[in-house]
Amino acid sequence: MTGKIHSFESFGAADGPGVRFVVFMHGCPLRCVYCHNPDTWANASCAAETTAEEALSRALRYRDYWGEKGGITLSGGEPMMQAGFAAELFELAHAEGVTTCLDTAAGPFRRGDRRIERLLAATDTVLLDLKAFNRELHRKVTGADNTRILDCARYLSEKGVPVWIRRVLVPGLTDGEEDLSKTGEFIRSLGNVERVEVLPYHDMGAEKWRALGLEYQLNGVPPPDENAVTRAKELLGV
Ligand code: SF4
Repeated sequence: MTGKIHSFESFGAADGPGVRFVVFMHGCPLRCVYCHNPDTWANASCAAETTAEEALSRALRYRDYWGEKGGITLSGGEPMMQAGFAAELFELAHAEGVTTCLDTAAGPFRRGDRRIERLLAATDTVLLDLKAFNRELHRKVTGADNTRILDCARYLSEKGVPVWIRRVLVPGLTDGEEDLSKTGEFIRSLGNVERVEVLPYHDMGAEKWRALGLEYQLNGVPPPDENAVTRAKELLGV
C-alpha cells in the first residue's frame, strides 16, 4: 500500500518521546483557523506516493539518533485519513523494534472502522489535539464537530493507549476559562493521559495561507502572554 506524503523531518524534537523521524502526510478533514500546514489539507493527487517499506527504510537511516525513546511519528495533515498505510508502516516499525507515535486531531475517527482501530492498536503514543471542548467553539476553531474526537479520546482510554493531550492557546478564542476547565475535567476522566501540553499560538503559518490564496482570520492576534499560559495549565490540570 502507498501513502501520500507531504514531507519528512529527520530530527523531530517536539513530536513525541525522544528524537523522532517524522512523516508528514497529506489530507485533513479539519480547517483549523491557526493551521501551520494548510498546504497538507488537500489529498493531493500530485503528492509523492511512498510504500510503507520505503518510508520505514528511509526512517531507519536515522535509528542511531533515537536512543531508547525515539522512533517514528506520523503527522500531517491528518494521518488517520490514510489509516491503512499508517497501520502498515507502524506494524513494520514494531517488527523492527521501533516505537510509533501518531500526531492526530482524530477528525476521521469512528468506532468500528477497522483500518483506524488497526492503526491505533499499532501506536505506542498518541499526541491528541483537543482544540476545544464546547461543540460550537470547536466548530468555530476547526469547521467541524468534536463528537468523534472526544469519543476517540475515550476509546484510547478504554484500550489503555498512552496519550499526550495538546491544546493550542489562542487569545480571545481558545483561552476561555469555562472551556479550559471543562477540557480539564474531561482529561481527568480519562485513564491514559501521560502528559498535557499547552501550545501558545503563533502566526508562523500565516504566510502559507497567503501563498495559497486563503484568508487568514487571525491577523493581529498576539501570542498569549506567560500568565495566560500558566492559567491555562492550571485549568487543564497540568
Ligand atoms: S488538524 Fe492539524 S493539519 Fe488539520 S487543519 Fe487542524 S492544525 Fe491543520
